[in-house]
Amino acid sequence: MSMTPDEAQYEEYMDELYEEHKEQAIQEFIDERLQSYYGEHRVLAKAAFGALTEAKNLICTNATAAFLFSAIAMEVGLRETLVKPIVFGLVHTLSVASLITDMVLSRPDHKKYRNLLLQILRQHGGVDIYTYKRLDSHRPIWEEITDVKKKRDLIMHQAETVTIDEAGLALGVASTILENMFPTVVAKMGLHLHEGFRICDNWKCTYKGTPIETILKAT
Ligand SMILES: [Zn+2]
Repeated sequence: MSMTPDEAQYEEYMDELYEEHKEQAIQEFIDERLQSYYGEHRVLAKAAFGALTEAKNLICTNATAAFLFSAIAMEVGLRETLVKPIVFGLVHTLSVASLITDMVLSRPDHKKYRNLLLQILRQHGGVDIYTYKRLDSHRPIWEEITDVKKKRDLIMHQAETVTIDEAGLALGVASTILENMFPTVVAKMGLHLHEGFRICDNWKCTYKGTPIETILKAT
């Protein structure tokens, strides 16, 4: 496969960036940067959660529409709540972090870069996307994510439809990312969630509804 000069330059840039980040990631990936990203972007999961809610509402009436909203929740959720915060921990500039996140997730040839990001996510966020299996599945979620993306393309470009089982799979994958993996990483950062998506760092919330809350209010 031949490359245009632009593509060659881009490949070279990504290779350089990979080498640079690989060193840095191994030596000193800083949890504080990840923590501060979540702290500064407290509603980063809101849009993806909106799509997930829409998918749940549609699952009984329109399988294909539910599948599409699940695919949106899955892809936006993965990008905004898990991958972009990690890239930001390495790159430190939001616009560049967004650009790299999109390139790494959308281009299959950036496997080694993606592996690096997912390795950091495993070590620092406590979530392993490559090996994690959902409760009712025998396959790693990464394979299921790939299948959902392929099917999404067939719906979008060839007007295919899906079965209720396929819609259920996509919904299960999206739910796992947003309702299981995202909260795991947030908890690992010492933060917690309200309404499923809003990030909070107020330690007093832990005592809500307990006798200690009354004491805290009185002091
Ligand atoms: Zn709170």
